[in-house]
Amino acid sequence: MIINHTEELNISDYSELALEAGFTYAAPLAVDALIFRQEVRDMCAADLCRSYGKCWSCPPAAGSLEHIAEKASGYSRGIIVQTSGELKDDFDIASIHRLSLKHNACFDKLVRQVRILSPGCLPMGAGACTRCRKCTYPDRPCRHPDRLWPSMEAYGLLVSDVCVKSGLGYNYGSGTMTFTSCILID
Ligand code: SF4
Repeated sequence: MIINHTEELNISDYSELALEAGFTYAAPLAVDALIFRQEVRDMCAADLCRSYGKCWSCPPAAGSLEHIAEKASGYSRGIIVQTSGELKDDFDIASIHRLSLKHNACFDKLVRQVRILSPGCLPMGAGACTRCRKCTYPDRPCRHPDRLWPSMEAYGLLVSDVCVKSGLGYNYGSGTMTFTSCILID
């Protein structure tokens, strides 16, 4: 797809851009499904992923739910993107890691492109930021604040609900793994 920087893209063009960036699935985001829930935040605080309080992208550094809800309320459209793949079995950590790296690389590429067209866009990633070998949190500022995007979960979103309301699956069956991110576009 050739991007004309002076032309405003419609939302299906952004989905096409996402598929070209390498995602498995992309769809218009159901913006009204973005409900920033304290109970999801509470799951972060349970620290099952061992990232709570260890990274600028994760709670509590990710900011308050009120703050993100207010920011998000200024957007009426966006896209949701997924990277999905097969696992050999439930313990196939190598494939999960590869899929995660692929998803994050595609998301970096897509955010770069969307920012050209929509400089005020609001990306929400998947999982804790792993850009640096060791995060500077909490002693020093983030090394890459312009490439720091908290995850949908960190913002209190119930990802399965947002996927389904946006017309995408959340789980594509046993033996598969899927990573999901989204971008609000102004
Ligand atoms: S870019 Fe580096 S310093 Fe910033 S949140 Fe990610 S890991 Fe931490």
